[in-house]
Amino acid sequence: MSTNSRYPSLLSLELGPAATVFITTVDMPHLAAHTGDDPLTVRATRDCLEDAVEAPIIWMNQTHSTAVIHTDLTARTSNTFNQAGLGDDYAVAGRKETKTGGSAASNAWESHLLTLSSQMPGARSSAQEWELDQAGDLVAQGDGLIISQHLNGTALANFHTHGSQSDDGADSGVGNNTGSHAPLTYAAAVLTADCVPILIASHDGQHIAAIHAGRKGALGGIAQQAITMMREITTQPLHVMLGPSICGPCYEIDPTTYNEFIAQYPSAGTQTLQGTYAIDVAGAVTQQCREIAECSGGTFTDLRLCTLTDKRFYSYRRDHTGQRIASIIRPGKP
Ligand SMILES: [Zn+2]
Repeated sequence: MSTNSRYPSLLSLELGPAATVFITTVDMPHLAAHTGDDPLTVRATRDCLEDAVEAPIIWMNQTHSTAVIHTDLTARTSNTFNQAGLGDDYAVAGRKETKTGGSAASNAWESHLLTLSSQMPGARSSAQEWELDQAGDLVAQGDGLIISQHLNGTALANFHTHGSQSDDGADSGVGNNTGSHAPLTYAAAVLTADCVPILIASHDGQHIAAIHAGRKGALGGIAQQAITMMREITTQPLHVMLGPSICGPCYEIDPTTYNEFIAQYPSAGTQTLQGTYAIDVAGAVTQQCREIAECSGGTFTDLRLCTLTDKRFYSYRRDHTGQRIASIIRPGKP
């Protein structure tokens, strides 16, 4: 694990050969829009974080659900956005406030998502899948977010360089690219303070996922659902990482909740140092993720960082705080 030279409080790790995970610490508060923070402060912190990870970040409206949203940005993205006249503001197209003039950007982004979503087999209507949060970001309505995107492809680069898309589709037109901008890729983020952040990357980095798995999500099988979706989207090996979360012995719960959880995950039952009931949610999620990751030819990594005892991170149990750490995944090397 290394730290960013410009943002020392940001941890970064490689996930597979083609993706990077970033994890914020308590030195970067004000990232969660739904917990009472000032929206403008959240906006400023998220801008700073996007600068640090060098990618626009897509957030989620996490509600301890088992909903996983897949957004496929490989489908003629450039045309959609160029027609909307958003130009270089593509980077912030999911935002209410942009220099192109307010809601036009988010409206275009929204219709883009609707278009993409309706093209996906079995996809639900996306109208309910996205909403603006308090900080003005268009966020995925779910606890799992999968982004498919071009890495070296020209769809995003074309868009980013204003109207240089070719007629024969998003995958061509390298020669039309002015080369003045690097291809733009999106990052996915999950906010936690004790729950388990799960980050997934395909071996080629084209498909990434961020998942929020707490006790309820684990019971609902969100990790299994997300990684199975990734498996259906790509035949590439999958690399899975569990970020900082509360460890088993620190997660004391009542006997009823304990019994409910171990009925589904017998080996996730544990106890505190005092001998009271506790559960290991990361252990339960491991059961859901490890086999699929390793069978795909990929890797499984549990950072084994406990949010309650490691004071670099926020812990709801320890601090009863509205603050969250962000675990972010984006394609590309650190
Ligand atoms: Zn612990």
